Amino acid sequence: MRSVSFPFYKTRAWKECRAAYLHKVNGLCELCMERGIIKPADIVHHKIHLTDETARDPAIALNFENLQAVCIDCHNALHFRKAPKKRYEIIDGKVVIGEDAPL
Ligand SMILES: [Zn+2]
Ligand SMILES: [Zn+2]
Repeated sequence: MRSVSFPFYKTRAWKECRAAYLHKVNGLCELCMERGIIKPADIVHHKIHLTDETARDPAIALNFENLQAVCIDCHNALHFRKAPKKRYEIIDGKVVIGEDAPL
């Protein structure tokens, strides 16, 4: 997992964004829910992962389209799975999932 040295997670903007997003998804893990499992979300994950650079871009860092509420198990799977990563792009404020990126 890449770390972000910019103290993004401490910003008020992120705390408000995160709280609003969790409220929107009823505080549940979205990936578990897809499989019919009701489990509270522990983490709001960024589909386009945060780096020092992306953390400064509100279109990525604070965009609901780029967020996903997940439990710890799903979050670990997202970051450590071996499957090829999907590419994401932001077009007009929407997150667009591209073709599988080559390994
Ligand atoms: Zn989950
Ligand atoms: Zn994550």
